[in-house]
Amino acid sequence: MLKLKNINTFYGNIHALKDVDIEVTEGEIITLIGANGAGKTTTLMSISGIVPPRSGEILFMDKAINHFRPDTIVALGICQVPEGRHIFPYLTVMENLDMGAFLRTDKDNIKKDLEHIFDLFPILAQRRHQPGGTLSGGEQQMLAISRALMARPKLLLLDEPSLGLAPLVVRQIFEIIEKINNESNTTIFLVEQNANLALKTAHRGYVMENGRIMLTDATENLLLDENVKKAYLGM
Ligand code: ATP
Repeated sequence: MLKLKNINTFYGNIHALKDVDIEVTEGEIITLIGANGAGKTTTLMSISGIVPPRSGEILFMDKAINHFRPDTIVALGICQVPEGRHIFPYLTVMENLDMGAFLRTDKDNIKKDLEHIFDLFPILAQRRHQPGGTLSGGEQQMLAISRALMARPKLLLLDEPSLGLAPLVVRQIFEIIEKINNESNTTIFLVEQNANLALKTAHRGYVMENGRIMLTDATENLLLDENVKKAYLGM
């Protein structure tokens, strides 16, 4: 579904991604783990066209997208939930969700998707008229994911969904991430600092260090890898 081929991304003269190769197959959850500053967010930003790579190629459904604008990339079916949520705090929950569907014209399906989202996150239905900024951190994360789902993405890019949330809420969010993957066949690209949780949720994983992919394997193998255990799982 998605192929990053030899991607190099820069911020001015900071070389953030170095010859990055990543493949995502339709229907799977893949995770990218790594320390602070490894280049995980930059990888998502490169895919979604916000920080386009200087060289290399990104193919989505066999189409090169690395020169496309971010809104074109969203329209093709790639949606990013940014680190820190970035919901619209002064808009209500409903208005935030409407913003997610702004590129769509299929009104009947939008209504169905909204019902599905309220099934996934009943708390958002209860809070639908409340300004987004008054929600708890966990509820804001649910809203950010839901807003992305309103675009009916084929590929959902999640940046640190566990950040700053209590363990119980994190567990809830990750259960729903698995449900979204299972039930609506949405492919998921998960960036996480919580390597243990990410590797238990995803099917395959990539380990990034200093802008380079150092290791990739099925997550059950990464969980047993001595270097991964030492560096990322605190074992
Ligand atoms: P974290 O887990 O802390 O979010 P990360 O793995 O997502 O880290 P990135 O945010 O992608 O890492 O950063 C990769 C590198 O690019 C780091 O060296 C970082 O300092 C640098 N960088 C990121 N954003 C910018 C920017 N806007 N301008 C300049 N350098 C940046």
